[in-house]
Amino acid sequence: MPKFALLRDRLLKDGVITPDQIYQPGEPPTGWLELVHDAAYVMAYRQGRLDAKVQRRIGLPWSPALVKRTCTAVGGTILTAKLALEYGLACNTAGGTHHAFPSYGSGFCIFNDLAIATRVLQSQQRARRVLILDLDVHQGDGTAWIFRDDPSVFTFSMHCAENFPARKQRSDLDIPLPTGLTDEAYLRCLARHLPDVLAQVRPDLVLYDAGVDPHRDDRLGKLAMTNTGLYERDRWVLDTCVQAGHPVACVIGGGYGNSMEDLIFRHSLLHRAAVDVFQRRRL
Ligand SMILES: [Zn+2]
Repeated sequence: MPKFALLRDRLLKDGVITPDQIYQPGEPPTGWLELVHDAAYVMAYRQGRLDAKVQRRIGLPWSPALVKRTCTAVGGTILTAKLALEYGLACNTAGGTHHAFPSYGSGFCIFNDLAIATRVLQSQQRARRVLILDLDVHQGDGTAWIFRDDPSVFTFSMHCAENFPARKQRSDLDIPLPTGLTDEAYLRCLARHLPDVLAQVRPDLVLYDAGVDPHRDDRLGKLAMTNTGLYERDRWVLDTCVQAGHPVACVIGGGYGNSMEDLIFRHSLLHRAAVDVFQRRRL
């Protein structure tokens, strides 16, 4: 079973959420995907007709089930963003496909859910200024490129400098981190930047990619954070944004573990932190 359903089940089993807090997204209309992606790419991917080189760059074998999962995850991030505007805070149990560019995918990312959700909300006049806060251990290169000339969207990526992608794009703010960085230095670095970015951008919505691949046991990350550090990171991010009056929509981002159970727990730290902030701030 893919990790997304396991995460939902774990959140229910541990009493982090109740069934009535779960919203089921649908697949977004093609026109929404095309707010970001080339129509030819969207159609070729959906029909399994991408050429072999483009498919290989994605890194996942094509199947009808993967098409459905990919589109549903995008629908989930759009729904999460709308719920965040309504309630102040909402979390997807998937999402964060930040390596996807308009005409090709890369690094397990096919469609860029963060960019699509941003464009959908802007086109519906639900949000004007958006901050994309990307704390996945890999740079949000696709997102940075998509919004490179768009002053209404601020991209902020804090990532391991030595990690994928080898060729970085330029975000509005990039914070490259040294290999092996631990909790305290990581959290200090984040605290040095986020409040100023929020004050400068004054976003109507924050899209937060809470990748857990900065964890020390991650197979693809090169940082050395602990579960406690990731939980503190998420709680501080959410609390800081919410307290300043900015709604936050969260996606889980990357995470690659040898033990599925440990990995699911790591991803669940985001939802545990969100529940804590949601209750304390009485949203
Ligand atoms: Zn990642």
